[in-house]
Amino acid sequence: MSLAANTWLGWLLAWVLSGALVGAAIGFRHDRLLFGIGLGALLGPIGWFLVARSRAAQVECPGCSRHISRTALVCPRCGTNVRQAQARNPRSALRQADRGKPW
Ligand SMILES: [Zn+2]
Repeated sequence: MSLAANTWLGWLLAWVLSGALVGAAIGFRHDRLLFGIGLGALLGPIGWFLVARSRAAQVECPGCSRHISRTALVCPRCGTNVRQAQARNPRSALRQADRGKPW
């Protein structure tokens, strides 16, 4: 392999590695580490932008309003049962209060 090809491969490797590293940092903040690494390595700055713009895989806890994982069943910070709290919206609470009452 010629020296020029080696140099190009080196630059390519450095580009992919630095892209993956920055993508990982951005993806980590958005709770999408692997997505960030993949897009960062493939697309570089464009991938970073896409990861930064992507919707975080997090939801707001109904108990303490902090961001928790979308897949969490119980909030790790305040212990609220997320599924139950989502089912207990204001409308269902009103219906519960009206149940059994005459008009
Ligand atoms: Zn919470």
